[in-house]
Parts: sequence; structure tokens; C-alpha cells
Amino acid sequence: MRIHLSRPHMSGQEQWRVAEAFASNFVAPLGPQLDAFEASVREYLGADVHCVGLSSGSAALHLALRIAGVGSGDEVWISSMTFAGGIFPVNYLNAKPRFFDLDPTSWTVDTAWLSEELAKASRENRLPKAIVPTDLYGQSVDLEPLQALAEQYGVRLIVDSAESLGATYKNGRKAGTGGDAAILSFNGNKIITTSGGGMLVTRHKAWAAEARFLATQARDPAPHYEHSTFGYNYRLSNICAAIGLGQIEVLDARVARRREIFARYKGALSRPGIAFMPEPDGLHSSRWLTALTIDPTETGIAREDIRLTLLEHRIESRPLWKPMHMQPLYAGAPYHGACVDERLFANGLCLPSGSDMTDEQQNEVIERITTLLDRGR
Ligand SMILES: *Cc1c(COP(=O)(O)O)cnc(C)c1O
Repeated sequence: MRIHLSRPHMSGQEQWRVAEAFASNFVAPLGPQLDAFEASVREYLGADVHCVGLSSGSAALHLALRIAGVGSGDEVWISSMTFAGGIFPVNYLNAKPRFFDLDPTSWTVDTAWLSEELAKASRENRLPKAIVPTDLYGQSVDLEPLQALAEQYGVRLIVDSAESLGATYKNGRKAGTGGDAAILSFNGNKIITTSGGGMLVTRHKAWAAEARFLATQARDPAPHYEHSTFGYNYRLSNICAAIGLGQIEVLDARVARRREIFARYKGALSRPGIAFMPEPDGLHSSRWLTALTIDPTETGIAREDIRLTLLEHRIESRPLWKPMHMQPLYAGAPYHGACVDERLFANGLCLPSGSDMTDEQQNEVIERITTLLDRGR
């Protein structure tokens, strides 16, 4: 592949920080770099939250759900359109997902469906243990109504902010600060990376303490190893955290560049039948990936025509996430919605959006697509 969807983009300030960690022999899942990285993410988020560095975003969600009290047979209500890492932890806990559709004006969870179902579930005494809305492709969910619903029904709210670090919600509030907890991911394809890693961000001090305990094999205080419950080996490596220290410094620059890439695509490719992911008033998406839909009847071109043509020229693009209620794994799971997500999946495409992509590379992507669209008409 010559042009990737989203590649790691180093700032140049990572290697010496890794070398520093080596020099002090903190080649372990603890150390000053990890402490500093947790502190710098907290400072970036600018909120009264606690940050726990973990081995992945999936690990963060697993811990958050367990700490929220999700257990075998409990329901977790979740955006259907998400990535594996944002749902599989529900399976780890033997819990049951109930899926919700997106709002077409934001492409994030439609709170109207949630509200209706919560009212019904409350009457029938079958409320979920937790709600997990997903910040999609860099855009924060509509947090206020979700928090109001969670409070009204006494349900835990865990926001999957793995794709939205760097985005802001209303009044400059940073994505990743919502709900009882939010999860972040520093996987290689995310807006900043630690090569692999994640974080649990929570306003509850006790949740952070519990996460640190569970993430280091649930060791009770004792000179020997004493366990009253089971845990996991989920802490972020200090070496990886050193990479994160060099990345968090440039996060705002990465957001600016991804937004610029989105704006260039939108400027060059907008025409009847092409719709870019909307950005509701007051929200500032990180535009982690540029996402758009192609209406085949209006453009004369199908999403797959574009994807395969790009692939022939070694340019990577990807259909939008396949909604989880359509996955064989979740066949038969309850779903509430109007199939907005199914239509997005049918016609949606993510274009190369890496912050290290050059203007020339983006021009080539634009030219390839424009040629196809002109032929389609
Ligand atoms: C990337 C991602 C995750 C999980 O991240 P990992 O660090 O890869 O485990 C979870 N949810 C969503 C929506 C993601 O995009």
C-alpha cells in the first residue's frame, strides 16, 4: 500500500523519551514515563478526571464494564455501529448487548431510541447495567441528553471515546471526559499512538483505584501474593507510555491536520449524491477518518467501485464499520432503530486520512475518485 488509511505519525520527540526510559531501566509496566503520560493526558483533557494507562482501549472498556458491575446475563446497551474493540468486552463478561441506531444528523447514537427503550425497560424492571455510546470517526456523542438519561434511570454511562481524542463537545469540553468513565485508544491507527495502548478516564477516584488494582492481577495488600478476586495483566508498558509523551504534545496539531484533510476532500468531492459525515453545531470533531456516503443512483457509481479503483492504485480505503447487529456473532441480538447505520454501511467509505499524508498524495486520491464520478454521470 502506498497511501494508507491512517498511519502512525511520530513527532520526533518519542525516541529520546524511550531512550530515557531505557537508561533508567524502567522497562516495565510501571515507571515515571507512565505516570507522566497519565498526567499529561489528564492535563490535556482539562477536567477533574483520573487517567489509568492500559494495554489497549479494549482492556479499558473491559475494566470499565466490570467496575460498573456488569456481569453474566446483564444487558449493555451500545451503538451498533462500532469497532470490535468497542463491543467484545461485553462478551468477555458474558453480558448481553442490545444495539441502537445512529442519528442521521450526527452519525452518533440516536438518543430518542434510547430514551424510549429506557422508559419501557424501567416499567418492565429490566434496565441495563450500562450504556456505551460510541464517538464515531472523531465525533463526540451528544453527551448532555445521554448523561440526563443515565441519571434519570440510574444506569452507568461509559463513553467509547477511542476514536475521538482531540475532539470537543459543547463549550470546549474535551471528548473523553464524559459519563462515569470514557475509554481512549492509542492503537497504531488512532490519532495519536503508543504503538498499542489505551486509557480509562473516569471522574470516580474509586473507579481509577479499582482499575489499577484489577489491571495488575488483583493483588490484595500482603507480603505474598493474596487474591480475593481475579484480575488481568492490563497495564500500559512504561516504554509505550514514553512514546505517548512525544505524541500528546502534537495532538492538537494532528487534529488540525485531519480537519484540513477532511475540508479538502469535502471541497473537491462534494456533488449531488455524495454526503460527508455531518458535524452538529457546537461540536468540533477530530475528523479521525474522513467518512462519506456515495449514493449509487445519484452518482452512477457504487462505494465498491471507488474502493476497488483506489486499491488498484495501492490506495487504502475502507467501508464504514459494519453494524454489530448485522454481524454473524450477534445474530438475533435486539436492535432498535430505523436502519440508518445499515444504509451508512451500504454506501459509506472512509478515505485515507493520516496526518502524515502529503497534499500530493491527497490530490491523487481526489483525482482517482473524481475521474470515476465524472464517468458515472
Ligand atoms: C480502536 C477502537 C477501540 C479499541 O481500541 P484498541 O486499543 O484497539 O483495543 C474501541 N472502540 C472503538 C470504536 C475503536 O475505534
